[in-house]
Amino acid sequence: MKTTDGYDEIREGVRALCADFPDEYFRRIDEARGYPEAFVDALTRAGWLAALIPQDYGGSGLGLAEASVIMEEINRCGGNSGACHGQMYNMGTLLRHGSEAQKRLYLPQIASGALRLQSMAVTEPTTGTDTTRLKTSAVKKGDRYVVNGQKVWISRIQHSDLMILLARTTPLADVKRKSDGMSIFIVDLRDAIGKGMTVRPIANMVNHETNELFFDDLEIPAANLIGDEGRGFKYILDGLNAERTLIAAECIGDGYWFVDRAVRYANERVVFDRPIGKNQGVQFPIAEAYMEVEAANLMRFRACALFDAHAPCGAEANMAKHLAAKASWEAANACLQTHGGFGFAAEYDIERKFRETRLYQVAPISTNLILAYVAEHVLGLPRSF
Ligand SMILES: Cc1cc2nc3c(=O)[nH]c(=O)nc-3n(C[C@H](O)[C@H](O)[C@H](O)COP(=O)(O)OP(=O)(O)OC[C@H]3O[C@@H](n4cnc5c(N)ncnc54)[C@H](O)[C@@H]3O)c2cc1C
Repeated sequence: MKTTDGYDEIREGVRALCADFPDEYFRRIDEARGYPEAFVDALTRAGWLAALIPQDYGGSGLGLAEASVIMEEINRCGGNSGACHGQMYNMGTLLRHGSEAQKRLYLPQIASGALRLQSMAVTEPTTGTDTTRLKTSAVKKGDRYVVNGQKVWISRIQHSDLMILLARTTPLADVKRKSDGMSIFIVDLRDAIGKGMTVRPIANMVNHETNELFFDDLEIPAANLIGDEGRGFKYILDGLNAERTLIAAECIGDGYWFVDRAVRYANERVVFDRPIGKNQGVQFPIAEAYMEVEAANLMRFRACALFDAHAPCGAEANMAKHLAAKASWEAANACLQTHGGFGFAAEYDIERKFRETRLYQVAPISTNLILAYVAEHVLGLPRSF
């Protein structure tokens, strides 16, 4: 599908790279529950994952709009950015709130791919979305912090060197506002795993490497604190607009992929002596899905434009993520239905992409929480929780 949004050069570059990793590649990786190492290496070497790192630190210093096109194209070509999107946006916390020394130490190595910062550990098993009640603690002892607690659903740990960790440094009972008293740290996984941190993989519906983490007196150098102690929750929130907009773009890539596949099959498949696409009952759900993806795409570019102009974009980033995740899911359903029984066959890749795109209505934030955000912060309705 041809686009006219001015990002043709990026689209063509990413498509050329993705052409070396066709459907069969991702299907094989999915079936083996493997990691697309060769694909992630190629993306890294080509510099695409360093899009948001400023040139001073070895990246390409592109805007969120360009970065989002990279993610969109990966999914639009049949791949899954979820394997590596963390490498593009997790460094944002470090970039915005890290010291100059931390930035000089880590960012050039992240840009080159020498270090992977693919993981961010926020969610906990007993508190879920109610993040400010998280129980993992980091207690300062001399020049170290000692971490105890547990996290769940922490992705790409086995394919990362570094992880951003959110932990409580002041107990909830001792802070004025519940969002105070949490801090973020950069954890060097090579020093942590087996030395106070245990990783337990979670088998799950998607081929998404994600894990339970257990901290038992894990020691982190005090120099690994990012920004000021106690302000970590705010720092995490600062990074969410970029993350949500990039994931919106991935969903949009999925949405176009499903529409393309549905149209192709509806034109080819002949039943009752005519292409199934001649039936309005087959056409209309595809047309509807296409319109939803197009509309979500407008909101995604609006969020990007505001973000890149350093204007507030919380509402637009959340709305883009919500609309895009819904649109890609509708497109997935239309595509599966159009393919009839063949939609369930792994060799058509639809059931794989169907599972992959479903995740985005739950992670990194579930739909209800976006609806609550818009109700409260955009429409001025009472806070519901
Ligand atoms: C594959 C995968 C990868 C992930 N990767 C990461 C990662 O790398 N790092 C990380 O920190 N987290 C990660 N997560 C966690 C993810 O962000 C959470 O699963 C998500 O935010 C929802 O939290 P929860 O699962 O605890 O659901 P809960 O908070 O238990 O909520 C369960 C359901 O109840 C609804 N709900 C809860 N409270 C309310 C309310 N007040 N009003 C209306 N509805 C409500 C929610 O919307 C949800 O549908 C990942 C999750 C998955 C599945």
